[in-house]
Amino acid sequence: MGKHNEGQDLKSSLMNHLWYTNCKDMYSATPRDKYTATVFAVRDFIAKKWIETQQAYYEVDAKRVYYLSLEFLLGRLLHNYILNLRLDAEFRAASDVLAIPYDELIELEWDAGLGNGGLGRLAACFLDSMASMSYPGYGYGIRYEYGIFFQKIVDGHQIETPDNWLRYGNAWEFPRPEVLYMVHFHGKVNSIMDRNKKLRMEWADTDSVMAMAYDYPILGYDNNTVNTLRLWSAKSTRDFDFQYFNSGDYVRAVEDKSTSESISKVLYPNDQSLAGKELRLKQQYFFVSATLKDILRRYCKEHKKFNAFPKKVAIQLNDTHPAIAIPELMRLLVDDNDLEWDTAWEVTTKTFSYTNHTILPEALETWSEEIMWHLLPRHLQIIREIDRRFQIQVSFRFPDDPQRKHRLAILSRNGRDVVNMARLAIVGSHTVNGVSELHSDIIKDVVFKDFHEMWPKKFQNVTNGVTPRRWILEANPGLSQLIMEAIGDQWLKNLELLHDLEPFATDTQFQQRFLDIKYQNKIKLRDFVKKTFNLSLDPEIMLDCQVKRFHEYKRQLLNILHAITLYNRLITGQVDPDMVPRTILFAGKSAPGYFICKLIIKLIHSVAAIIHAHPLAREKLQLIFVPNYSVTEAQTIIPAAELSEQVSTAGYEASGTGNMKFALNGALTIGTLDGANIEIREEVGPENFFLFGLQAEEIAALRATYNPMQYLDNNEELTLIMHQLSTGYFSPENKDLFQPIVNVFLGEGDKYFVLADYKDYIQQQETVSETYKDKQLWAKMAILNVARCGKFSSDRAIQTYAEKIWDVQSITARKGGSFDIT
Ligand SMILES: *Cc1c(COP(=O)(O)O)cnc(C)c1O
Repeated sequence: MGKHNEGQDLKSSLMNHLWYTNCKDMYSATPRDKYTATVFAVRDFIAKKWIETQQAYYEVDAKRVYYLSLEFLLGRLLHNYILNLRLDAEFRAASDVLAIPYDELIELEWDAGLGNGGLGRLAACFLDSMASMSYPGYGYGIRYEYGIFFQKIVDGHQIETPDNWLRYGNAWEFPRPEVLYMVHFHGKVNSIMDRNKKLRMEWADTDSVMAMAYDYPILGYDNNTVNTLRLWSAKSTRDFDFQYFNSGDYVRAVEDKSTSESISKVLYPNDQSLAGKELRLKQQYFFVSATLKDILRRYCKEHKKFNAFPKKVAIQLNDTHPAIAIPELMRLLVDDNDLEWDTAWEVTTKTFSYTNHTILPEALETWSEEIMWHLLPRHLQIIREIDRRFQIQVSFRFPDDPQRKHRLAILSRNGRDVVNMARLAIVGSHTVNGVSELHSDIIKDVVFKDFHEMWPKKFQNVTNGVTPRRWILEANPGLSQLIMEAIGDQWLKNLELLHDLEPFATDTQFQQRFLDIKYQNKIKLRDFVKKTFNLSLDPEIMLDCQVKRFHEYKRQLLNILHAITLYNRLITGQVDPDMVPRTILFAGKSAPGYFICKLIIKLIHSVAAIIHAHPLAREKLQLIFVPNYSVTEAQTIIPAAELSEQVSTAGYEASGTGNMKFALNGALTIGTLDGANIEIREEVGPENFFLFGLQAEEIAALRATYNPMQYLDNNEELTLIMHQLSTGYFSPENKDLFQPIVNVFLGEGDKYFVLADYKDYIQQQETVSETYKDKQLWAKMAILNVARCGKFSSDRAIQTYAEKIWDVQSITARKGGSFDIT
């Protein structure tokens, strides 16, 4: 099926799938049946490309990249894939036959939320870029039965409900019941003498569970590449064990099944912090073990020996979550494939590379030796051996510095015996990268300084990026159309071409069209929040957005302090009559156990209610909270935003990718010199960025002597706010409700320097408002943000990984069975 005579073909394809795949006619079909029929029609365009892509990789024996991630925050796929196929117009026209508007059809899809936030969305953008640039890339992860929870708001409080996303099946997935691996846990390690009188370790008496593959097609943009995302689901071995069923205890056999299958049941909802639960380590090992077995199987089809392994396989660890892959590959090579330790270690360290995503201490993974010994005894032995050899290496390199080896130890023995997964990942990888210039510098100079001194060349930077296909073309069709009219459509494949828009920044006609599109996007957002949450949003006024996971370091509190400041000024008449009105929009989930962040969400709702109740305030200021922030919500909110809040404490946000999505959609940023904000400001020019706040080095220097009380002494507005919070001004029915927030500021030392940055932030917000009064100036600045943010395409990031870290080439299948390697 091709693009020729698409009209009728496509209509009959849709009807055929409705009838013969779903077994429904137009009378019995539900809207969801029509949606799945459309997915099946799209799959028909994908299947052949998918097979041919995989054949091409196989025939040229391509070096593959394996992106191992515990999270893939994909969002919806249907419209994205139709756009990638460039069949938008055709499907829009053909969907008539289903008697449902195309725009309603695509909204029937469940947002695939197998991730928490930035890290999971990055993995999804990277899959898109690998496919769009024809790199032989595979995503590997877990097919969670429950994705990130739904956030409901009840009386201003976050309530979590389960995301049972597979309830109606999933038309995108291809179950592969034949791709099945046994994964072992527990048991003990025996040393045995083998037939050749060689001592070897045998991991015995284990419990086991099966990992079954489900494949998802990852479709490139406007090319013939379809890559694979392979997600593992846990299946009880009992299903495969007839003996057990015949042993008589049939009911127990079926009961046991559910315990082992719980491994892939649910995504852990903590972003940037750990629960430290044994089940999480089980998840990690489960998916890593199945993945490595699958990688070895693919490699061994073509190769007899392992010396070429690093030439054919690159494995990227998305944070330390899959770092247990390092001892697992050692185990597979040494115990199962008879390699000598040194040979296996060379293969391993030439294969792995590791991306660090955070330096927050509460997010750096450690596992107690006790848990690891219980769950993975052989791996703990291997880690001990890796550590022992590494310690010798350190002593050899720094003979006069005996303390150093303790600072670098993978197994730390001070107090609690733990395995430090970041150190394991660094020692076992050839390259370690941070995700923005600043973050990579902090890794080298502070967090992993000793490692950097040991191996300076191991450390690199790859600044994150986002895919322009989803985040501009799909999310913002109006802006995409405007850009195409001005500079054509090649920017979707080479985002640096957006620079060609620069001359239009001062073109008044272009400015007006740009502003009109922003206004239309605000209308769409207004309609969306009205329909979905019964919230009101005024499209006529400035839209100021902070949408991201809730975390104290991201400082949603600073933003609320601004809202309260404006409120206090408004009700006491301390503002210009021509003050620029604004809507401050928040969205984001808090980790279910993160008490302060949940209270911050409640505070936002309480402040919103107080503002709304006051006629002098509500005229100029609206506060709204959009529930259940996810990829779909992001795609609706970001194109409508005019101001992007990127206000993390300097030194804490590794990169941010939300910041990039906003800038590319023509929002101006108010932000600190943190993460990729620094590079965004460099690209767009300081005159097109609202900077405030202390710098990372100043924060570090201030920490020792910081006294938040001092910032109240000479600031009446801040003093008033603290008083309002502690006396129940915003919570008349429960006066102590927000006392814990006051304690964060004044009792617990304001760990994230909110009060220190308050004054500068408020001042910079005033500059924002002044600038907004000049519509043309604002439009010019916003257009320049779009034109100068081409660097933040995930294509650029992936190209950097491919050239500097993975050493892989792109491969394109050509019609007629020959392949191009470029
Ligand atoms: C981009 C994105 C994020 C990351 O946002 P940051 O502002 O970088 O933290 C989180 N969640 C969703 C749904 C996203 O699309």
